[in-house]
Amino acid sequence: MTVMLDKLAAQESKRLLGDTELAERAARLSEQYFGGRARPASVRWVTNQNTRWGSCTPAEGSIRLSHRLQGMPEYVVDYVLLHELAHLLVPGHGPRFWRLLEAYPRTERARGYLEGVVAADRLPHLSASDDE
Ligand SMILES: [Zn+2]
Repeated sequence: MTVMLDKLAAQESKRLLGDTELAERAARLSEQYFGGRARPASVRWVTNQNTRWGSCTPAEGSIRLSHRLQGMPEYVVDYVLLHELAHLLVPGHGPRFWRLLEAYPRTERARGYLEGVVAADRLPHLSASDDE
């Protein structure tokens, strides 16, 4: 059952931006903002990551992005990609890390967008009857 759901989810993500396109995008972003220094071995979407937007295993050079980002504005997806790419160069979230991300002009805007999504998730949802 899990396998089948994963398959469905994979098809879903292909319609938006496939793993191959995602890897190409990461390479472009690394080139543009980090002088090509961040070279991930793999970049892919995952559906089992609901509390984090992205994650990175520097030892393996692997980057995973939550499927929840699909359908969000491109600059937000790019920010999360850059964030994880930066972790290939600098672990943790110290000043050196954020200095790297300053190269991307929409870091603050993208962080604000993602904070807004989290906040909206926590709001009580109005049901249809509440709207009446
Ligand atoms: Zn991080």
